[in-house]
Amino acid sequence: MAEEKLLVKRDGEFCYPIYFENDFSFLSQALTDEGLAGKSMCIVSDSTVAPLYADQVKAELLKVSDHVYQFTFPAGEAYKNLDTVQDLFQCLIENGLDRKSLVVALGGGVTGDLSGFGAAAYLRGIDFIQIPTTLLAQVDSSVGGKTGVDFRQFKNMVGAFHQPRLVYMNMATLQSLPEREFGCGMGEILKTGLICDKDFFDFVCANYKIIRTMDPEMLAVMIRKCCAIKAGVVERDPKEQGERALLNLGHTIGHAVEKLMNFNLLHGQCVGIGLVAAAAISRERGLLTNGEYEQICHSLKLYGLPLYVEGLSPRDILAATKKDKKMEQGQIKFILMDGLGKSFIDKTVTDQELLVGIHAICR
Ligand code: NAD
Ligand code: MG
Repeated sequence: MAEEKLLVKRDGEFCYPIYFENDFSFLSQALTDEGLAGKSMCIVSDSTVAPLYADQVKAELLKVSDHVYQFTFPAGEAYKNLDTVQDLFQCLIENGLDRKSLVVALGGGVTGDLSGFGAAAYLRGIDFIQIPTTLLAQVDSSVGGKTGVDFRQFKNMVGAFHQPRLVYMNMATLQSLPEREFGCGMGEILKTGLICDKDFFDFVCANYKIIRTMDPEMLAVMIRKCCAIKAGVVERDPKEQGERALLNLGHTIGHAVEKLMNFNLLHGQCVGIGLVAAAAISRERGLLTNGEYEQICHSLKLYGLPLYVEGLSPRDILAATKKDKKMEQGQIKFILMDGLGKSFIDKTVTDQELLVGIHAICR
């Protein structure tokens, strides 16, 4: 039985469906329903995910396609780069994938971003679908159509907007996810609540015990709600001309920390640290009370996320923050909070204020 799917729209028109399932058994039907059966397909996954799930997915795809190929790359952010994209192109060419073919991204955000970008560029753009297997990918990176890779030390520097034809979540895949990775997804989930939905933030905090046991029903409710919130933001502003920038809450200083730590801290962990910094600046402006600030810190602790970073100098973090690609004509586009569940874009944050945020996260 298929669960109720979420329909993502663009310019008011139906764009693609998100399926929330607990196994892969509805995948072939989903492909058929979206008119994707019969295409040549290439499953893209990393060296951790492929041994776990590629066979199951391949078996499903073979029900609707005679040509299913596989491309596997080494797991990790370090491989989200143009070299891996080139290897992917080589595989697509060698197997004769054409304009009508389909790329199937099976894995976390790294796989989704890389495959989506490969699909956007190959033959000037072919279809792709997302089968996200990390919590972060299910609630965040698979929704919204941003794809891309890192370039040298610059994160997500090269990319494209390319919407998937469908997103298929098998939430049971989360059962094999390491706890640290699960926590990273929770960082983005807490962020989503803080941006625009206090009830959702409170729900995620209040139910932390059961969420941490990976209770399937609770996960389903949380993931679906988080996707619906993100899809709403993205529908209203697909190319980040306004509201979508709110999704960068915690990411400005978070990205700087991520970079300076040489990617030794995971993205979601850096987002958590970035949320603390953004909360400290918001508190400094009188937009958050001490109690609200503490509540944000507490929420991160509930999910085992770090609040501080050690061994970095505040000046270095400031410099790295100001190099962020979200600068607009020399002025940083910062996301501040105005109470819990409300946020806004602010282009007036001074270096001094940034340092208040940075000092809050340095130990
Ligand atoms: P990831 O894809 O590297 O996955 C994390 C680790 O978990 C990897 O080692 C992976 O092999 C492993 N893994 C994946 N699924 C598993 C499973 N079910 N069981 C066991 N292990 C599993 O990283 P991520 O955290 O999913 O995503 C982070 C990436 O997503 C970053 O590159 C970030 O820039 C990107 N991102 C993109 C967007 C977007 O809008 N496109 C949004 C947020 C993040
Ligand atoms: Mg993020």
